[in-house]
Amino acid sequence: MIEVIEPATEKVMAEVPRAGADEVDAAVAAAKAAFGAWRAVEPAERAATLRRLADAIEAEAAELATIEARNAGKPISDSRAEIAMVIECFRYYAGAPERLLGRTIPVAGGVDMTFREPLGVVGLIVPWNFPLVIASWKVAPALAAGNTVVLKPAELTPLTALELERIALGAGLPEGVFSVVAGPGSVCGARLVEHPDVAKIAFTGSTEVGRGIAAGAASTIKRVTLELGGKSANVVFADADLEAAAAAAPIAVFGNAGQDCCARSRILVERDALDDFLSAMEAVVKTMRVGDPLDDSTQMGPLISAGQRDSVASFVPSDAPVAFRGATPDSAGYWFPPTVLAPVSNSDRAAREEIFGPVACVIPFADEAEAVRLANDTIYGLSGSVWTRDGAKALRVSRGIEAGVVSVNSNTSVRVTTPFGGFKQSGVGRELGPDALDHYTELKNVFYATDQPREG
Ligand code: NDP
Repeated sequence: MIEVIEPATEKVMAEVPRAGADEVDAAVAAAKAAFGAWRAVEPAERAATLRRLADAIEAEAAELATIEARNAGKPISDSRAEIAMVIECFRYYAGAPERLLGRTIPVAGGVDMTFREPLGVVGLIVPWNFPLVIASWKVAPALAAGNTVVLKPAELTPLTALELERIALGAGLPEGVFSVVAGPGSVCGARLVEHPDVAKIAFTGSTEVGRGIAAGAASTIKRVTLELGGKSANVVFADADLEAAAAAAPIAVFGNAGQDCCARSRILVERDALDDFLSAMEAVVKTMRVGDPLDDSTQMGPLISAGQRDSVASFVPSDAPVAFRGATPDSAGYWFPPTVLAPVSNSDRAAREEIFGPVACVIPFADEAEAVRLANDTIYGLSGSVWTRDGAKALRVSRGIEAGVVSVNSNTSVRVTTPFGGFKQSGVGRELGPDALDHYTELKNVFYATDQPREG
């Protein structure tokens, strides 16, 4: 059995059966058997099934949000917003089955047309930081395109995925079309990656495991989408609305206790504005409400595990340049205070590695060219922000930053309707928006000869 721990209390909140390679093989076989019928479901009916699924999730949204908040240790207000996004995601992709359009291409001798065909069985491997919402970004477009799905949640947070499996069956998804295998990544994840009947793996997690998945998928030439780590830059120019930038910066790195691949964990501040920025940010960080995930006013919960807390603490040794930090409860729970290191050099370990915890590095810069150089001086390229009142500079810097998702005067990264994914070692492929469907379909070209046969 998997003992599921509640990180805010360190107590067991549930036990679920631990799947192994045999359960993965059975789920893949069921998904393979279900594929032919599911891809043949008429587009309007497949769309209606996804809308029913969205409605069924909505009917249980409050319970799902509570489970997720307790299991992942995230504030209930965040958890509610994530479940709302899950519902929105299924509704958005319910529009897809009837809009998987092909093209006709002018050619000699006939008609040439393209089709978007489903891949078959897709294996989805998701992490513990945003368990159900990241799963929905993959499950919804995969099913909409006519694939069948085997989902492997992280062992630390399997509960909402298992709930989704139950809800999906109740909403009328045929047996085998969507199943969940809750078990260790090194066993269940690895089996999905090597399985000859799995056509594609979509993975979110660490860059290190992502590298192994890309290598493993090569032996069967599987399609792969990878959403990996980040070390995103939040670039604040002196001509920005500094109050707004400083007020928004803490939650952009301490949200989800910093366990967010989009965390703006490198805050690059133009040197002239550094003191003003830091004093405005300090006021916000010192009043952050860190505590019980189920309290409506909580802004930050605990880390996911004791191991994660140790890993985060290793980035803040006793001689670290701690400028200021927030407070944590002294009760049980994997707490770590929101911590701001300043000034930090971009070559320091804390500025180079993904900490995945509530630790921000403030890095001064002299001018626009240095800001772009520092922002790009990383192996990662997931997201980033630019704060300035100069519109042309905002666009120049946005174009200059090597990242998949950039915001101006905002720290948002993710919307259901827009593409999300990374440059460089932050990943391969895009999720969400219209582009995700390309990653769950193969493009087929059909040529149909129409010339009259020649006489004689
Ligand atoms: P992992 O990358 O190990 O886990 C992500 C998912 O992959 C989990 O479902 C995990 O399963 C599974 N997995 C693990 N090993 C394999 C494998 N060999 N083959 C297939 N699947 C596998 O992340 P961690 O949970 O260990 O977190 C470590 C670090 O990764 C974090 O500190 C953070 O830096 C980064 N990370 C980034 C995320 C992101 O959103 N980009 C999300 C999570 C982590 P299981 O956990 O059940 O073993």
